[in-house]
Amino acid sequence: MICKRCGRCCLHLDIFVVNPRSILPDGNMNKNDPEAMIHKPAGQMCPHFANKSGPEEKIATCTIHHLPCYRDTPCEKFEQIGPEDSLCLLSSYLDGRK
Ligand code: SF4
Ligand code: SF4
Repeated sequence: MICKRCGRCCLHLDIFVVNPRSILPDGNMNKNDPEAMIHKPAGQMCPHFANKSGPEEKIATCTIHHLPCYRDTPCEKFEQIGPEDSLCLLSSYLDGRK
């Protein structure tokens, strides 16, 4: 799936994300923390979300995407059915949500 970097899923999905306090200096997750994953409810922006300003528009960025703690999270596993090079369909679906 090709991500259009709109950031809508980081706001509208009801999902579990890495607890910011559980990220160790080396980027790994503190597995001894029983609350290493926290619930991010639909309608609340993820604490790891940031907007980067591009030449013409803002580009949604996940600030932990490159870190080892991101591996195997629901966000990393998020995919859609279809060819790998198809554009994200969820973006348009979520477009009309408040
Ligand atoms: S809704 Fe789709 S296009 Fe938008 S940030 Fe999420 S994965 Fe990317
Ligand atoms: S962890 Fe990253 S990809 Fe997942 S919801 Fe948060 S900002 Fe979006």
